[in-house]
Amino acid sequence: MANSSNSDVIVIGAGVVGCSLAYHLAGANARVTVFDKGGICAGMSARSGALVRMHYTFAPEVELAWKSLGYFSNWGEMIGGECGFVRTGFALVVGGENTARIRRNVAMMKQIGVEVELCDAAQLRSMDHCLNIDDIALAAYEPQSGYADPVATTNSLAEAAERRQVRFRLNTQVEKTLVEGGRAAGVRMANGAEFSGGAVCIAAGPWADALLAPLGVQIGIKPERAQVAFFHRSPALSHLSYIDCISGSYFRPHGAGLTLAGLGEWRPATEPDPDNFREANDREFIEEVGRRLAHRIPALQDAPYARGHAGVYDVSPDSRAVLGKVPGIDGLFVAAGFSGTGFKTSPAVGAAMAELILKGRSSIVDISPFAFERILNRCLIRTESEYVIGTGFGHSL
Ligand SMILES: Cc1cc2nc3c(=O)[nH]c(=O)nc-3n(C[C@H](O)[C@H](O)[C@H](O)COP(=O)(O)OP(=O)(O)OC[C@H]3O[C@@H](n4cnc5c(N)ncnc54)[C@H](O)[C@@H]3O)c2cc1C
Repeated sequence: MANSSNSDVIVIGAGVVGCSLAYHLAGANARVTVFDKGGICAGMSARSGALVRMHYTFAPEVELAWKSLGYFSNWGEMIGGECGFVRTGFALVVGGENTARIRRNVAMMKQIGVEVELCDAAQLRSMDHCLNIDDIALAAYEPQSGYADPVATTNSLAEAAERRQVRFRLNTQVEKTLVEGGRAAGVRMANGAEFSGGAVCIAAGPWADALLAPLGVQIGIKPERAQVAFFHRSPALSHLSYIDCISGSYFRPHGAGLTLAGLGEWRPATEPDPDNFREANDREFIEEVGRRLAHRIPALQDAPYARGHAGVYDVSPDSRAVLGKVPGIDGLFVAAGFSGTGFKTSPAVGAAMAELILKGRSSIVDISPFAFERILNRCLIRTESEYVIGTGFGHSL
């Protein structure tokens, strides 16, 4: 090979997942090089709504979110620097059609050890006086959840990784993974330069399938354009963070004077190109998400629009991440297909993937249920307590 990076592990992608993985790998004394075609946090991490909640219907995802909350809550001591975590409290609210599901999911979360309580509408209203509870049957309340700053989080992980001697090669596009004798041996750049590595992990968000395709295997990622909008809010009005399964939307405070509101895939048109998509909000999205926000928090009726943006979700066939070895190629791993929910789990995903790559199995959380084989064998993850969610939310929970 023309160049030798002498890396034990090459990570493709310097988003929140790649930076977390690099940090954890280096913590186990691996020599790591991270390649990104842009800068640190050049991809979808920068566009994240960055809601940090524990509520999922699939127990291994709850475990990843719960373990990650430990990092967000103690960032300075565990990683160093700032992640901008703000504990707002969080509630997932449902109507009558989902009450059996929310009961089962809360019971499952409690078994894992998550601090979560089932509340009726009146109990929720006593915690959040500005809430319209007319159509709420039940809520799952998490006092410890909130949101973080996705750019600060990713930069902080990258800086912590650099302190552990991780090398970042930025503005350097990987063209393909090199395979020798059935084993990943390194990467080739678009300019022809080659770098060797003992293992390679693709953490390239919605670009992951483009890197897998030349190897004859793909996750089947569907890119979906998703939008969030920020509305002005009087600092005197405070509210919790929410996933509203009734209207199919989510809201959270953003600092003292803004509220972020989001929908997932909203009136999808053609499949977006993650390198070239409309980054501004659509006018009809602003109207619709504003309407849903005002329904839940009537005091935000006519709240002025401040700003907003779109990003691209990397939606896998079952709306869950693919974490593990790429079948048929030793030493090649993938962590992608997060389907619009990969920010909050990134600290634990990086730790678990590092263990898997270096030791062959993960102990912080058993991530074997997310293995690539399930996609190839069409054994997709489905839970009995998947919510029926209003249109536009964008992914399952
Ligand atoms: C609008 C929106 C709202 C969201 N809200 C939430 C939320 O509230 N909570 C939550 O948990 N998650 C949320 N998510 C999802 C979350 O942000 C993502 O799952 C997470 O950021 C994915 O991180 P990543 O590192 O996998 O991907 P990315 O951040 O996209 O990083 C991938 C990197 O790979 C690089 N790359 C790609 N191809 C190559 C190549 N060939 N060579 C070199 N580098 C390459 C890219 O430049 C990029 O930097 C949201 C996402 C969006 C878009």
